[in-house]
Amino acid sequence: MSDIYSKSKRSKIMSLISGKETKLEILVRKFLFANGFRFRKNVKNLPGKPDIVLPMYKTIIFIHGCFWHGHTCKRGTLPNTNIEFWKTKINKNIKRDKRNTIELEKQGWRVIAIWQCEINNIELRNKIFSNLAVAIKTKIQY
Ligand SMILES: [Zn+2]
Repeated sequence: MSDIYSKSKRSKIMSLISGKETKLEILVRKFLFANGFRFRKNVKNLPGKPDIVLPMYKTIIFIHGCFWHGHTCKRGTLPNTNIEFWKTKINKNIKRDKRNTIELEKQGWRVIAIWQCEINNIELRNKIFSNLAVAIKTKIQY
């Protein structure tokens, strides 16, 4: 399998975006906790093992890595080589995300997806976070 990145660079990228508890998840959890939201994390008995579950608000938050979850942004761009391999892999993830969301919504959960690129940038992150807090409390569509 060839790749535009060297083996070590690729494995670094992979570890950055597939780590169990990513920096970004911690950021979101810290924000929520500081704002009085109480949540459970990595809930294994719900579809997709949601990163954050707010039982009081019947709300679930996924923090999606742009590459793995096929975001339409710069970070979600597929490698130049082996494009079919990556396309198949990422499309599978996109489909699984959709299936999980539908299943969760059927169970009465509201599902919010936050993208890595939205919270990497500090200005955007602050905006996203304040929108998020309002959306959770008011139960409006995020
Ligand atoms: Zn993105």
